Amino acid sequence: MSVTALPWHSAAWARLIAMVQNNRLPHAILLTAPSGSGRRQFADALCGYLICRGDAARPCGQCKQCLLYDSGNHPDVMVLAPEESSKNIKIEQVRRAIQFVAQTSNQADATKLIIVQPAEGLGNAAANSLLKSLEEPPGKTLFILIAEPGANLLPTIRSRCQPLVLETASDEQAMVWLTAHSSATPEHLRAALQLAPGRPLLALNLLEQGIPAWRSVLEQNLLDLQQGKVSPVEIAKSASTQPALRAIQCLQEINTNACLALSMANKTEALKVRLAFQQKLVPVIRQLSGTSNPNELLALEYVFAEYSNVIARLD
Ligand SMILES: [Zn+2]
Repeated sequence: MSVTALPWHSAAWARLIAMVQNNRLPHAILLTAPSGSGRRQFADALCGYLICRGDAARPCGQCKQCLLYDSGNHPDVMVLAPEESSKNIKIEQVRRAIQFVAQTSNQADATKLIIVQPAEGLGNAAANSLLKSLEEPPGKTLFILIAEPGANLLPTIRSRCQPLVLETASDEQAMVWLTAHSSATPEHLRAALQLAPGRPLLALNLLEQGIPAWRSVLEQNLLDLQQGKVSPVEIAKSASTQPALRAIQCLQEINTNACLALSMANKTEALKVRLAFQQKLVPVIRQLSGTSNPNELLALEYVFAEYSNVIARLD
């Protein structure tokens, strides 16, 4: 089946199709949208549409070109992305893309398509070597650069691309899509969306990793801790089914929300206690994000013991 753009991207899709039909497609477009919102699917759908020999506003899924594209081996499409274990697109990869653009297509009048994801992965040298091709590619070519909103891209790259900002999904659109793609309970679907607002594909990924269920257990455990029903060591053990950093970031978020509420209610003493706890999380987060190999369970036990002290002082 051919890839189509997601429902919340229908306005951007219509703008793009109008450009193609009026022969106003540029050499390069910059798609901006947060990751996990379906932006790559939009780029894939665009490639499928441009490759299809049919004349509908979406790929027919039947012609030889569509079948070839859907098999993932279309000779006119190239994806430029960081190779495994690297965050950056290497200059050699960009050189291969430039060669690819220079070759003539197998079919007459076909467009060469290059997806660059993420555009932030282009370092200065790689970006500079791409500039000339972006501006004046030989033959019919479309570069589709994908970036986060507000990404720090070279101005010379930005100025050569036509910007296209993709809409994010509304809560309702996201829920409809998630319900069709996941068998999780509505409660977990909503919890996943709260962790990834406007980004249903990321929410699905979190659901597949069991994050919302894990998080609601953690939240319940924290309430139980308050009532003395569980110990910090027990919570640490229960939370350790996910990386320690994730648990601590959740705790940080919960504590931040509590700080906001205390600040609004002018409860200065309690706020001080919560803020002091927030400070204690900083070095632990730094250590867990670093390259050393700290004992994750010990870090969790320490953090939950400290949190237990906070609750005791607030009682
Ligand atoms: Zn087709």
